[in-house]
Amino acid sequence: MSTKPRIVVLGAGYAGMMTTKKLIKNLTPEEAEIVLVNKHNYHYQTTWLHEVAAGTINQNQVRIMIKDIISPNRVRLIYDTVVKIDQDDNRVILENSELIYDYLVIALGYETNTFGIKGMDEHAFFIESFESSQLIREHIEYQFAKFHQDPNADESSLTILVGGGGFTGIEFIGELVERVPKLCKKYDIDRGKAKIINVEAAPSILPTFDKELVSYARKSLQERGAQILEGTKINECTKEGFIVGEDNELIKAGTVVWTGGVKASPVLTNSGFELTKGRFTVNGDLRAPGRDNIFVIGDCAWVMNKLEGRPYPPTAQAAMQHASTCANNIRSLIHHEPLEEFVFSDKGTVASLGVTDAMGSILGGKKLYGKPAAAMKKVVDDRYLFLLGGINLLVKKGKVRPF
Ligand SMILES: Cc1cc2nc3c(=O)[nH]c(=O)nc-3n(C[C@H](O)[C@H](O)[C@H](O)COP(=O)(O)OP(=O)(O)OC[C@H]3O[C@@H](n4cnc5c(N)ncnc54)[C@H](O)[C@@H]3O)c2cc1C
Repeated sequence: MSTKPRIVVLGAGYAGMMTTKKLIKNLTPEEAEIVLVNKHNYHYQTTWLHEVAAGTINQNQVRIMIKDIISPNRVRLIYDTVVKIDQDDNRVILENSELIYDYLVIALGYETNTFGIKGMDEHAFFIESFESSQLIREHIEYQFAKFHQDPNADESSLTILVGGGGFTGIEFIGELVERVPKLCKKYDIDRGKAKIINVEAAPSILPTFDKELVSYARKSLQERGAQILEGTKINECTKEGFIVGEDNELIKAGTVVWTGGVKASPVLTNSGFELTKGRFTVNGDLRAPGRDNIFVIGDCAWVMNKLEGRPYPPTAQAAMQHASTCANNIRSLIHHEPLEEFVFSDKGTVASLGVTDAMGSILGGKKLYGKPAAAMKKVVDDRYLFLLGGINLLVKKGKVRPF
């Protein structure tokens, strides 16, 4: 029987994939056994899911087979769903088997948070996974095809209603303003009949962005036909649409998508991890308080920004940086060396507003708009592919086309 420690990584998203890659670099096969568990045999680019949902990207570009990036000869790959973690017995319960670990990395990402809004769980679609995003794409296309077949159909079946004006909601609207005209053309439908509406309860969309950047985004989307309803509270979601505002007005739609919030994977709460505002607060070294062999990273984790006294926002950028600290700390634990503290290095944020428009700020706070911002966004997306799978993956799946 093997005496080397077993490291189990749960989830093959940004955090899980990059942790596994770094562990392979940090440790020899003799030093530790590495196991990666994921629901599917593929990794997907979560930051591209709004494009999958709108139908503006080839779906195959978004998915990457895990075995093409991580050799099964080096890492044991298990394609199964994590049900629960038994912290006291160092055991992970999967749908089809169980696993014992010496070190555990929980990188299971997020699920949608509907904040108890009546009817939202039952009637809205969520941009939550590759499959749920594919379903939105198919549903939208079906609404247009059905309308084309039935001249007496209700025009509101073409309306796409998006709840939440945060990053995901606005990036999705940006894709829709490009996709909807194409669907109208394909199905001979007057463009004026298909509405795209974003509903946000806060006074402004994109509350974490600079005001000038927000104004740019709002104007760009409105000019291309989107309606942005800010300061509009959703009281209920029904099968017909949203009921909003003090007058309980019904906005009817054939497609309703909720993007207004996320929280950590339900596996955490099912396993006795207590969440604060939807996430699990970890120590500075990314370990669960009181559990020396469990790391929680990516969207599952709140990592405190000690200077500002609040947590860093959960992003792919942060998830990849967690991965590096986490893999280094596991190596240190195995070698009985001191652990490092996580320090976030902010590289800036760019939000896409469709294929050729975007806005955001990069290193040093420099603001970017329009085509330069859109180009920068593609470079950021491609940088991740390069870090994950080198030049081969970049050539296969990258967005920037040199020729
Ligand atoms: C549309 C959209 C756009 C975004 N754009 C940006 C951006 O521009 N920049 C940025 O920094 N961030 C962006 N984000 C946020 C970013 O995608 C997340 O912060 C990031 O994906 C977190 O990485 P993660 O590894 O924690 O989770 P994920 O990438 O979500 O990976 C979780 C993995 O765990 C697997 N999994 C889940 N549950 C189970 C289970 N029970 N059993 C087994 N496997 C399971 C999933 O299949 C998945 O492979 C965006 C998010 C969305 C939705």
